[in-house]
Amino acid sequence: MQEIDFMNRAISIAHENVVTNNGGPFGAIVVKDGKVIGVGRNEVTRTYDPTAHAEVQAIREACKFLGSFQLTDCEIYTSCEPCPMCIGAIYWARPKAVYYACTKSEAAKIGFDDQFIYEQLDLPIEKRSIKMKQICPTNYDHPFETWKNSTSRVDY
Ligand SMILES: [Zn+2]
Repeated sequence: MQEIDFMNRAISIAHENVVTNNGGPFGAIVVKDGKVIGVGRNEVTRTYDPTAHAEVQAIREACKFLGSFQLTDCEIYTSCEPCPMCIGAIYWARPKAVYYACTKSEAAKIGFDDQFIYEQLDLPIEKRSIKMKQICPTNYDHPFETWKNSTSRVDY
């Protein structure tokens, strides 16, 4: 299979997701060595999970398949340019490439506008629309100190 075939697979997952009324019009797959190792579709509304975007679902399935929290040497094909949350998940998963079909501006035209989140990320914390405030009890950094000194931790 070639790039275009993998992208067609992601797009058909997205289309099927709408036809079956499963969720939003988004699909994604993770490919390693020419094989599909993870499939994801948007399941936000069906599972009551705002993080159930196609890319996140595909990353979860692929990582489980590999028994790894990294997608080393993997490629993600997604029917639409990833949102800020999925971009974050993608950076944590560290695949080697991401390919997308529809753009974020095309998604915005049908009501999936994530421009607001990009703008929020650029604002200082105190100017964001959702209140975010630091609270520091004594020993607030105890988990970090324990992590730094742990001899059994798994770095990632
Ligand atoms: Zn997303």
